[in-house]
Amino acid sequence: MSTATALLSSEELSAVLPYALGHLYSNGGIFLSSSRAPNDGVIHAPFSLLPWHFPQGLLNQGLSLAIPFNNLVDSVSRDSAWLLGALERTAGADSFTGRLVDMYRLELAREAEAVKAGGGPVQNPLRLGIHRSDYMLTSNSEDSKGDFFLKQVELNTVASSMAGLSSIVSQLHANLPLRFASELPNVFKYFSQDGTSFSGARPSTANRDLAFALKEAHFAYLKGYSGGAPPPGILVAVCMVVQPGERNSFDQRALESELWDRYGVVLRYATLAELGRVAPHPPAPSHGILHNHASAPPLFLPPRGPGGPCTEVSVVYYRAGYTPGDYPSELEWTGRDFVEASRAIKCPCLAYHLAGTKKVQQLLANPGVLERFVKEKESVASLRGCFAGLWSLDVREGGDVSGAIEAARKNPSHYVIKPQREGGGNNLFNDSVAGALRIEGGMPPDQLAGYILMERLFPPLKPCVFVRNGAVKQSMGSCELGVYGVFLGDGVAPPLLNLPAGTLLRTKLEGSDEGGVAAGFAVIDSVWAV
Ligand code: ADP
Ligand code: MG
Repeated sequence: MSTATALLSSEELSAVLPYALGHLYSNGGIFLSSSRAPNDGVIHAPFSLLPWHFPQGLLNQGLSLAIPFNNLVDSVSRDSAWLLGALERTAGADSFTGRLVDMYRLELAREAEAVKAGGGPVQNPLRLGIHRSDYMLTSNSEDSKGDFFLKQVELNTVASSMAGLSSIVSQLHANLPLRFASELPNVFKYFSQDGTSFSGARPSTANRDLAFALKEAHFAYLKGYSGGAPPPGILVAVCMVVQPGERNSFDQRALESELWDRYGVVLRYATLAELGRVAPHPPAPSHGILHNHASAPPLFLPPRGPGGPCTEVSVVYYRAGYTPGDYPSELEWTGRDFVEASRAIKCPCLAYHLAGTKKVQQLLANPGVLERFVKEKESVASLRGCFAGLWSLDVREGGDVSGAIEAARKNPSHYVIKPQREGGGNNLFNDSVAGALRIEGGMPPDQLAGYILMERLFPPLKPCVFVRNGAVKQSMGSCELGVYGVFLGDGVAPPLLNLPAGTLLRTKLEGSDEGGVAAGFAVIDSVWAV
C-alpha cells in the first residue's frame, strides 16, 4: 500500500466538512440509517470531500459511447434467437438467469400466438432504456505513468442507480471553490490550475436526464389513448418497483421530485410482493378506450385511499428485481410476471435486462459479434476500443482456445471471475480466482459455465478524502466513471430518445477489490475535468 499525503489540514477539514455535510443533509444526499427501522433516522451518503481530477478527453469519450451502447442494447434485445442462444448454457448453470430466460421465452410465445391469431403485438413495442456504462482508467505502463484509456467494467441495463446522489455530490464539488476561494487558498488550489480561475466543475445532469427519459416514456404511453389523454377518473402514473426496506430511497425520491415538480408526472412505488398481491385480482375498470399500440392488458394499481382513482401504470421502472434476493417467494415472481404481461412500458423489459448480463458482455467481445448488431464501422471501433479482455469459462463452449484460463491459473491476481449478478460484492478476485480454476478441487465445470473471466484492470491511485458516517479518512483511492444513457424506441422508427444522461463517479480505497457504494465499498465522488 502506498501512503497518501493528506490533501487537507485539520483546520481546513473543520471548515469544509461541516459545509459539505450541511449540503448533503439539506439537499437529500442521504441514506436511511437502517433498512429494518425506517424511522431510525438518516445518515449522509458516503462521499469524497474533493472531486477527482479526471481527463476531459476521456470524459468526452465516455459520454460519446452512450449512444452506441444504447443502440447496441436495443439491437441485441430485438434479436431474440441470438439472445436465447447466448444465454442457453448460462441459464442451465445459474438458476436465477434461467428463471429470467424462461419468463422471456413465455413472453415470446405469447407474442407469437397473438401475431398468428392476427391480433397484432401483445407487448408495447416501446422500450425504455436507462443504462449506465461503468469504466475504469487503465494505462499500458506498469507504473500507470503512460497514457490512460477507458476500459468498460460492465454495462448496467437494470436499476442503474445513484443519479440523484451523484447530482447532489457533484453540485457540492462545484460549490466548494467559490465558497472557499477567499478563505482557504490551499483548498482553492486543488480546483485551480493557475491559482486564480477554475473551469473543471461538471455537475452531473443524471437526475434531471433520467426524469426526462421517464417523462418522455410516460407521454409516449399516453399517446396510445385517442386524444393523448386518459378518460376522466383514471390516473396514469409511473411505477417504481423497489426493494422492501431500501436504504437508498432518497436517491429514488430525487427522481420522484423531479418528475412531479418539473413535469407533473406522478410516481408510485410498489414492491414485487405488492405487485404479486394485486396480480390475481387486477382491479381493472373497463374504461372502454382502446389503446392503439398494444393488446396486452393495462397494469392497474389499487387506489391509494378510499374514493381515490385506480392508477394505470404507464412506465414500470425497476429498482428491484435484479438479484435473487429480490424474489424470496413465488409471490415476487408473480409480481414480475404481472408486470411483464401488461402493456406498460418496462424499464428494462426482459430482453434489455438479459442483454445487460455479464455473459452477453463477454460474448459481445468475441470477434465478429459486434458487427452483427452494429452496422457503422466507426461505432464498432469505438465500442471495441473500450472492451477489456473477456473470456468464457464454459469449457464446453470451445475449451480454453485463447489460453486465458491457463493464464489466469498462473496469474490469478490479473483476472476477475464474475457471476451473472448485479449490485456488488459478487465477484471473485485473487485467491478465489485461483481456487475456482484449480484443476482438482476447483469449481465444477457445470457451475463455472455460469461465470465469465475478465482481465483485471488496475486504475491509477490518487490521494483522496473519504467521508463515511461523518468520519474522514485521507487515503489513496481509485475511481470508476459511470455514464448514464437513455433510450426510447420501438425498433422500427428512429428512436424517440437516444442520449448520454450524466455521470456518476465512485471512488474506492486502495486495496478494495469491489466498488459499490450501497454495498459499502466506495464513496460518491464527481468529475473535475482537467
Ligand atoms: P456489479 O454488477 O456487481 O456491480 P461489476 O462488474 O461492476 O459488478 O463489479 C463490481 C466491482 O468490482 C466494480 O465496481 C469494480 O470495483 C470491481 N471490478 C469489476 N470488474 C473489474 C475488473 N475487470 N478489474 C478490476 N476491478 C473490477
Ligand atoms: Mg457495477
